[in-house]
Parts: sequence; C-alpha cells; structure tokens
Amino acid sequence: MTRVLYIAGWGRSGTTILDNLLGQVPGLASTGELHNIWQRGLIERRQCGCGEVLSECAWWQAAFKEGFGGIDKVDAADAVRAQGQIHTRDSRAVLRALRQGQMIERYRYADYLKKLYDGIATSTGADVIVDSSKFPADAIVAAGLPGYDVRIVHMLRDPRAVAHSWQRKRAVADKDSDKNSGQLRRVNLVRSTAVWQFYNQVIARHGRSAVGAGSYLRIQYEELATEPERVVRRILQHAGVDEDLCPEFDGNEVEMLPTHTASGNPNRFRTGRTAIRLDDEWAENMPSWRRLAVTALATPTLRQMSYDRRP
Ligand SMILES: [Zn+2]
Repeated sequence: MTRVLYIAGWGRSGTTILDNLLGQVPGLASTGELHNIWQRGLIERRQCGCGEVLSECAWWQAAFKEGFGGIDKVDAADAVRAQGQIHTRDSRAVLRALRQGQMIERYRYADYLKKLYDGIATSTGADVIVDSSKFPADAIVAAGLPGYDVRIVHMLRDPRAVAHSWQRKRAVADKDSDKNSGQLRRVNLVRSTAVWQFYNQVIARHGRSAVGAGSYLRIQYEELATEPERVVRRILQHAGVDEDLCPEFDGNEVEMLPTHTASGNPNRFRTGRTAIRLDDEWAENMPSWRRLAVTALATPTLRQMSYDRRP
C-alpha cells in the first residue's frame, strides 16, 4: 500500500524545506502543496519545482496521464470548485465521513485527490508520496481515501516567528503572490496568530484522530532547522522508510537536487549545496509590543504546543 506523508501546519512553519529535504530520499516523491496544483499549476500555469511550467513538466504529464488519462483531460476549474466544499472549520464533518467510510461519496474533491495520488504512485513507483499541502481538512480527506496509508507530520513553529515572517516583504520567484504583485502574500499579526492556533488545534485533535496516534508525529521547525539530519531520520522512520536513506549532511549542509513540487514557498527552487539554518531574525528585530501581542493572543495554545509562554 502506498504511503502518503502529509505535512500539516500553518504557513511559514518550514513545511516546504522539509518537503524538499524528503524529496532527496530515494523512493519518496516530493510533490509540494498539492492542494494548489489545480489553480496555480494548471489554471495559472505557474512553475514546477524543476523550473518548467508545471503543465509542460514531463513528470507531471506522466502522473496526470496515469491518474486522469492525460493532463488535458483534467477539469481543473471543477477541482477547485470541489475543493470549495472542504474547509478547516468543517473538519469534524470530514472526520465523520472518514469514520463512515463515505469520503469519496460525500466529497467530490476526494475523488480528484485519489486520482492524483494514484497517478503519482503509478508513474513514479514511489513508496511514499510527500504532500505538504498543510491544510488540516485535506489531511483528513487523504486519510479517508481507500488504498492509502496516510501518516501526518505536524509542523509547528513559534507563533512569534511565524507572525514576524508573515510581515516581511519578500519577492516571489514564480509569482506565488495572490495579486501578482511580485511579493509574497502578507498576513497581519492578529490573523496569523488566530490561524496558528486554529490550524494547530485542529491538526492535533482531528488530524491525529483521523490517522491514529501512531501515524501522527509532531515536529518543531526549530528542531528541524538546528538538527536537520536527526529530524529527517526520525521522520523517515515515521514514514516506514529505512532511515539510512537519509541524505548525507555535512553539518547542516546538504546537496539538493530539483524536485517536482507543485507549489510552496519560493525556497522550493533552491538547489545545489544548501545550508539549513534556523531563521530566528524575529528574536532580534521583532518590536516588543508585537511579541507581547502575539504571546497574549497565543497563550491558550503555547504550552500545549511546547512553546515558551514568556514573550
Ligand atoms: Zn517538474
């Protein structure tokens, strides 16, 4: 049975870096944020992680041929409409469909996702599909698909670092901005922290329940960034993969080959010798009132997610 390693979490939590690192491991197909493949990849014709326009990338053409009979046979607009029926706030209902074995009958998007996974599994022969879509409800949909063994990696990051990162201006390599401004989308601190709490609570409760405690693993970005090799090995074990297939690290540096990620943070295009470093710029540059505000807003969840409750 093909395994799916679903990376769940709120944005700016290191999910893309993790996906790319796992894509260096033989037998693992790193696909990035599959959730966005319909809109950004197929409709907006954005780039694959390999640099090609996604719909012209041979890797994706092969996957869509196996899953849908051809990339031109996919009604991407309909897939996006079907996605619109699934929201994180409805996670409880999605979980109910899973329990009743009714996922595909209840949610049209489940059928799209299954065909996409089927296509990737067949065309690559991979043992594990790495899907870093992040959305909590999508993880539950995946867990309800027949024929797949879904395991969740729940990526967390300090909410102050996350709020700070969402505020920074950054140019986008492949127009991953919402309004094609050439900048990554920015999110204000209140929203960032509210969604941080909401997503992480839903993943910890409903996501974990959907796959079972043994198939749920919580990782903090801070440990991945400081001890990448140890953490990647632990995640490979979790995915049922021989941990000795872990890419060779020289300290915190690793050689990165291109992956065919559908979407994600612009760092997915980084190849060659790459240093994995902790981005803790917030600790120095985040104004204290902002730290206080995020800490106050996140207090109910900080301890639960093993983060310091002092600002
Ligand atoms: Zn590609």
